[in-house]
Amino acid sequence: MKIVVTVKLVPDTNADKRIDPGTKRLVRTGIETVLNPFDEYAIEAALQLKEKRNDGSTVTIFTMAPETGKEIVRKALAMGADDAVMLSDPKLEGSDVAGTSYAMAAALKKVGYDLLLCGTQSTDAITGEVPGMLAEYLGVPGLTYVRKLESDGELLKAQRETETGYIDVAVKPPVLISVTKSINEPRYPSLKGIMGAKKKEIKSLALSDLGLERAVGSDGAKTEVIALASPDVRGKGKVVTVADGAEGASAIVDFLKEKKLI
Ligand SMILES: Cc1cc2nc3c(=O)[nH]c(=O)nc-3n(C[C@H](O)[C@H](O)[C@H](O)COP(=O)(O)OP(=O)(O)OC[C@H]3O[C@@H](n4cnc5c(N)ncnc54)[C@H](O)[C@@H]3O)c2cc1C
Repeated sequence: MKIVVTVKLVPDTNADKRIDPGTKRLVRTGIETVLNPFDEYAIEAALQLKEKRNDGSTVTIFTMAPETGKEIVRKALAMGADDAVMLSDPKLEGSDVAGTSYAMAAALKKVGYDLLLCGTQSTDAITGEVPGMLAEYLGVPGLTYVRKLESDGELLKAQRETETGYIDVAVKPPVLISVTKSINEPRYPSLKGIMGAKKKEIKSLALSDLGLERAVGSDGAKTEVIALASPDVRGKGKVVTVADGAEGASAIVDFLKEKKLI
């Protein structure tokens, strides 16, 4: 089984982030970039599946990111993935979710896959929309929010989280599955893994390899960020000092009446 894991490269969660007031986009230069933490769960799920199947299944990492992200992709390879493919092209800059998913889908058709594993969301744009759109562009079933995954002969058995419980689904590949953080505990790369990753292949794809039928990047964006603002700063809370519980209760009632909440 060819397992491909989509991995986003994101600014370090702890880094101070800045929005460019001109483009209204996140400034991604001069900031440490890391593997999207949610995608480490997808990589772990892929590796566990490969190890359990023990039938020559392979794990390929796929990212749409600038070429400068190559060394971060090596962390995914150090975890145990076999190889990686990067879709990198300056013309992709300014792609919105639809453009990103469209370009990724075209590249993934070239790469080929039986199982496509994604994280549930990124830690920068956090739309959680890419897996659904990707499945649509690829024309394969999309099982999102999966918390358990196992292979059973030709089938994959997945348990999806819903707001009210779980749904068990069996599916025949090709399929896209996005996994939640409940699915596993991602491994740390071993020293042997880190050394081995240096020799693993990272292939490059550019837009000219894809034969796209519509524009991507800023020209192809269907959405536009109109305005951005920080949340209002919360004022200081009101401290009421009272002699006893009864007086306190009455102070709370007065406060709620003043706010027209009762
Ligand atoms: C007008 C506009 C312009 C934008 N311009 C830029 C820009 O110039 N540069 C930029 O980086 N972003 C840009 N963005 C944000 C960009 O659209 C999103 O980063 C992108 O669509 C991914 O969405 P997300 O981060 O919400 O992913 P989510 O849907 O939250 O991610 C879910 C999963 O999808 C997979 N995934 C998502 N993105 C990638 C990826 N790139 N490669 C591999 N796997 C992935 C991962 O497995 C991830 O866990 C722009 C957005 C808008 C609206």
